[in-house]
Amino acid sequence: MPYEAVIGAEVHAELATLTKLFCGCSTAFGAPPNTQTCPVCLGMPGVLPVMNRLAFEHALKVALALNCHVDPVTFFDRKNYYYPDLPKNYQISQNHRNLGRNGHLDLPVEGRSLRVGIWNVHLEEDAGKLLHPESGQSDSLVDLNRAGTPLLEIVSAPDMRAPAEIDAFMRALRNILLYTGVSDCKMQEGRLRFEPSISLRPAGQKEYGARIEIKNVGSISAVVKAVEYEIQRQTRALDSGERLTPETRLWDDRLGRTVSMRRKETSADYRYFPEPDLVEIRVDETWKARIRAELPELPVPRRLRLQQQLNLGPYEAGVLTDDRALADYFESAVAAGKASPKAVANWVINDVLRILNERQISPVAFPIPPDRLAALAALVETGVIGQPTGRSVLDDMLATGEPPEEIVRKKGLAQISDESAIIAIVDRVLAAQPQVVADWKAGKKAAFNALIGPVMRETKGKANPQVVRQLLEKRLAEQ
Ligand code: ZN
Ligand code: MN
Repeated sequence: MPYEAVIGAEVHAELATLTKLFCGCSTAFGAPPNTQTCPVCLGMPGVLPVMNRLAFEHALKVALALNCHVDPVTFFDRKNYYYPDLPKNYQISQNHRNLGRNGHLDLPVEGRSLRVGIWNVHLEEDAGKLLHPESGQSDSLVDLNRAGTPLLEIVSAPDMRAPAEIDAFMRALRNILLYTGVSDCKMQEGRLRFEPSISLRPAGQKEYGARIEIKNVGSISAVVKAVEYEIQRQTRALDSGERLTPETRLWDDRLGRTVSMRRKETSADYRYFPEPDLVEIRVDETWKARIRAELPELPVPRRLRLQQQLNLGPYEAGVLTDDRALADYFESAVAAGKASPKAVANWVINDVLRILNERQISPVAFPIPPDRLAALAALVETGVIGQPTGRSVLDDMLATGEPPEEIVRKKGLAQISDESAIIAIVDRVLAAQPQVVADWKAGKKAAFNALIGPVMRETKGKANPQVVRQLLEKRLAEQ
């Protein structure tokens, strides 16, 4: 039977603040276990949490970027559950009055635009980490450095229908978090985590099937694989008459499959109630307006603007706006007004990106200033040097830090486009190769190419190939 997949996602992002959500402990990654703790984040009795204002503003920024409704009053709740890495036995989170709700994210998927609803955006504290024994050790260990780190949770509506759609959703959302600067999104350090949920229903049916949530997926590609796996697994189960029940499953990246973890709790299991130790937060219009004014141009609108304003293709605009710093670099190079946006885009996409990848550096650390890259693009675009020479000039710019005009001048790389200089060489070559000329006259088109080589050799490759072709055609026609 054909089924339709219904896919949603819960997203957790650690916010980029120096201190934790309710105490002054550092959030820095990689410190020795339990060195970044205090009575508040250790869950001692009698302590009082105080909210980190910057964390709240980061969360508010994302809520606004995701077009959420922000209520004038919001507060925290206690979510009660027991885990060894959660010393209070409850997590301070939001449930009754989320910071943002009913938003949406428009994202490009395979050439069309998909709107994914955002059910809510809220702020909560992260738990600690359990370190389970390797072979030979007997005890599990608890590291509470992460306990109390501000965590942003974003819950999407189940508006996606295919693995490609959740792939695009994750990338678009990550880009918004990076563009707004609220999280560094390092998935390998667990600072951004996606938990997809998948259910199947017979095509055409309105009611949803049993919702399966997947945890422990460490990368965007792993989420896509896990979703593909679940669609196949659930299809087989339903086809064989099995009844699926809601559950949480774990992704095993090594084996490439999900395994059952636990029956899914419902909201009632957590016994939420308003956190009595924290005051409610009033978000007035002035505060909202200030945060809204801090929002940068977001990736998708920026991409569309580059397409329209600079006449770039969707692929080029997509690659360039995938990273805010790269897009900034590109736009500064275009603003230098030396080369066409298209030419600059090609240099950035083909060469700058390659070098950034090779050196594993961010566009901010790229050593060539944008106006110099534009100058190089202009040298090629106006035919002063050819494309391959341009590449080697770029290497020299990286090695010496000199401007491209200087390198071209010092090394005498400028192409010869001067017709009078080239025509003499063309005539010499034609005179020396009567047989080839005869072949060409006899209709052997390949003979033409046999004449280009010697001309280029005589000019040490510096003749403008287009001019050489034109002059050869001209002279041969006159023969
Ligand atoms: Zn603390
Ligand atoms: Mn959560």
